[in-house]
Amino acid sequence: MFRIRKGDRVKILSGKDKGKIGKVLRVIVSKKRVVVEGANIVKKHMRKRSEAEPGGIREIPASVHISNVSLFCPNCNNQTKFITRILEDKSKIRVCKKCGKPI
Ligand SMILES: [Zn+2]
Repeated sequence: MFRIRKGDRVKILSGKDKGKIGKVLRVIVSKKRVVVEGANIVKKHMRKRSEAEPGGIREIPASVHISNVSLFCPNCNNQTKFITRILEDKSKIRVCKKCGKPI
């Protein structure tokens, strides 16, 4: 089950950005990878395409494997496990296992 969604706040668990917290910008379900804001930044050499897109070095976040990130609860200020709760109207919300607040 793919538990992390776009817009979630996650903590990086390994690699050079270990401990960083960022927002999930993109989820690549087929590869089980996520792109996290400010994490795993790589420098890419871009070729000049047009006046609006000049060439040069651009810093972009590369994807990290889902096992290397953990959901982060801003309320507990820590990485956390969460549970899915089904509301009366059948909609699902995810809540922090520790503090019970929705993520
Ligand atoms: Zn919490």
